[in-house]
Amino acid sequence: MKNVYLDNNATTRVAPEVRDAMLPYFNEQYGNPSSLYDIGYSAKDAVKKAREQVAALLGCEPDEVFFTSCGTESDNAAIIGSLWANPHKRHVITTTVEHHAIGYVAESLEKKGFPVTFVEVDQDGKLDLDTLKKSITDQTAIVSVMWANNETGVIFPIEEIGQYCRDRGVLFHTDAVQAAGKIKFNLKDSPIDLLSISGHKLNAPKGIGILYKKKGISWEPLMKGGQQEQSQRPGTENVPYIVGMGVAAELALSTFAEEYKQISSLRDYLESEIEKRIPDARITGKNSPRLPNTCHICFKGAKDDAMIHLLNTYGVAASSGSACNTESDDVSHVLRAMKIPEEYIRGSLRLSLGRYNTREDIDTVLDILPKVVERTRKAKARRAEAIAQDKDK
Ligand code: PLP
Repeated sequence: MKNVYLDNNATTRVAPEVRDAMLPYFNEQYGNPSSLYDIGYSAKDAVKKAREQVAALLGCEPDEVFFTSCGTESDNAAIIGSLWANPHKRHVITTTVEHHAIGYVAESLEKKGFPVTFVEVDQDGKLDLDTLKKSITDQTAIVSVMWANNETGVIFPIEEIGQYCRDRGVLFHTDAVQAAGKIKFNLKDSPIDLLSISGHKLNAPKGIGILYKKKGISWEPLMKGGQQEQSQRPGTENVPYIVGMGVAAELALSTFAEEYKQISSLRDYLESEIEKRIPDARITGKNSPRLPNTCHICFKGAKDDAMIHLLNTYGVAASSGSACNTESDDVSHVLRAMKIPEEYIRGSLRLSLGRYNTREDIDTVLDILPKVVERTRKAKARRAEAIAQDKDK
């Protein structure tokens, strides 16, 4: 049985180039970048190089790049740091489909009495831009809108929203965790003030993130401590992971055009074949701009957790949406926000491709998936029938 990994929006395999670059910084070049001797200097140089590599991917200055522990930390810091730095403004605007790293921050702020506006999306996952724009007031401290959705891959018009915020003097943050490496960035001339990235979504290890912060904006660091990262994110640098992040950024940049073509053509093939082979399949966000690697589909009358388990028995790793939701039995907040019809919403499947997927992987899944959907549809229908019969007794 061939194992097929199609959950690259959850996490990606560490690229061998990334791992090889990291290794010397564990046992050989293990110095503290703040130390004044050779292995300290070499660690410092490595961090500097990684910062330049990330800046090249983002199209910004190296001193606008701050290393953090993950995408979640960057997201939290962007919002809370903006509120701390601008205490006279308390209003936050975000969307109903953000990752929990933003959504739960916004909800907790709301509980603490901060006014928060959650802008809605339509059935295609498109954002209600009119409402977003009308919601901005002179009390708005920050607008945070994700660049691309982790579940559906739907892309939001970030430059347009950012420009609108800029014209009104409001800080603008975007969670670009899923967009990094899949969409070209040029932050130098963009209206984006703050942006978050996570290493493990682009073939670096888990546990390394980036916060981009435009020079001169009003923002306060959450952590206090040493002078690392210009005192904006104190704490001894995680040198091996920072090195890995830098190499991953360089790889993403150098392979961008080629990978975009390869991954998007595999994804398009996968979707068109699913539509041909499986009846009542509905591609989520089909009428919206989407990431090249993400295929999110709802199968009428199917059962998402049963599909994932069955696919797993065939060696296929997939998910129904966010990896952070899998412990709960709730339907995804993203699909709820998109008002996906009830008969489809529980049959959702996300297949997200990455740099190592091949045409053979896709053909393997295409062979298995019709059986999997059919079996879970039948099992669900039988269960519904048994429950109905029980009620009649
Ligand atoms: N934001 C988005 C859109 C994500 O998809 C994720 C991870 O799934 C995160 C933030 C959190 O990133 P991390 O896992 O590095 O904390």
